[in-house]
Amino acid sequence: MSLSKGCVLCYQGAKMVLFVTGRCYRSCWYCPLSGERKGTDTVYANEHPVDVPAQIIEEAENMSALGTGITGGEPLLCLDKVTMYCRLLKDHFGPDHHIHLYTAKAPYDTELSRMEGLVDEIRLHPPRECWNTILDTDYIRSVKRAKEMGYSIGFEVPALPGLELLIPALPYLDFLNINELEWGDSNAYEMRSRGHEPADDQHNAIQGAREWADELCRHDNVHWCSSAFKDSVQLRERLKRIAENTARSFDEITPDGTIVYGVLELPLQQKEICTQLCEQVFEPGSFETCDDHIEMAWWLLEKNADDLPGKKYVVERYPNGGMIVEVTPL
Ligand code: SF4
Repeated sequence: MSLSKGCVLCYQGAKMVLFVTGRCYRSCWYCPLSGERKGTDTVYANEHPVDVPAQIIEEAENMSALGTGITGGEPLLCLDKVTMYCRLLKDHFGPDHHIHLYTAKAPYDTELSRMEGLVDEIRLHPPRECWNTILDTDYIRSVKRAKEMGYSIGFEVPALPGLELLIPALPYLDFLNINELEWGDSNAYEMRSRGHEPADDQHNAIQGAREWADELCRHDNVHWCSSAFKDSVQLRERLKRIAENTARSFDEITPDGTIVYGVLELPLQQKEICTQLCEQVFEPGSFETCDDHIEMAWWLLEKNADDLPGKKYVVERYPNGGMIVEVTPL
């Protein structure tokens, strides 16, 4: 099996996900976009909304990114923005910063020309309706032209019944990635109305999706990307890279790349007294005073819980102010 360079970096958790628009001219029934992102023009670098382009560089630095995956919505609806961000990333990190772009369009020559030297790898998502005539579509024309221009190019499609219809396209492609179909809030109704159900209550994977891909997966340049892999390897590796760069000296980094610390919540007056106490008793760097609470090493809080007033709990969250995974009262 030959993996695209974008996938190799993704395995290492070294790709930043740059979501450039929630707009799209298609309306795929399985679309995984959340209601919050769909139709909007908000940009996200990984999970963080971007107000100014410099935040994209900051997020890429936070995770020591070796590359960026541009996604949406339909990124080619905002090609000016895409080329501006790619230039920014290549100028800052150098030409080896690998950029792949996902699109559901068959890009025109003019669009391909504008991305030359900026995007390294293109992943086309031909809609299900055209799979049975794939060789007669503009997607193959785009693939041929992109290859002449030096791009690495392939397909990236969700696992749906009928995947084997794409076999005739394989000789033209550098790779074909199949994403395991995933259940989500935004597509649950459509999934159910088609008789699809989650494989179990732990994961978002859909029952039977792997079997639909069996025939296609026998070919060399085809890669199956499971929902479990995305969670357990790709995301975890990315979180670990971010945690290593951003964790404070008292944050504990877990094997999953989340961070753990203790929180002491106090009324304002007690907080001032407690801050002074912490300064006298604890090592510098083992706690931090925030607006309305004190954060510290979780084990330090646990050890001193009986001697400290206020509400005490341990927080596990994604690094760099990310999503809270668990709060455990002490
Ligand atoms: S092309 Fe992608 S973003 Fe657009 S509707 Fe389909 S799945 Fe959603």
